Amino acid sequence: MIEPTQTSPSPTVSTDSEPRPVPGCYLCDNIAHERDRARANRDSDLVRYCNDRMRRHVTSQHPTR
Ligand SMILES: [Zn+2]
Repeated sequence: MIEPTQTSPSPTVSTDSEPRPVPGCYLCDNIAHERDRARANRDSDLVRYCNDRMRRHVTSQHPTR
């Protein structure tokens, strides 16, 4: 008998704490772009701010079913 020794690590690690933009939503796209730019500029404060904004927007505009 073979024991199921699957640890099954979660494949999504990098985007775990960050809200993901919803495809087709211009506002999500907007914020995602701003976040990308902030990350390119190493502006962690702005990245966090964008994440906060997107999380709030996604929560209110794209409620998970
Ligand atoms: Zn959106």
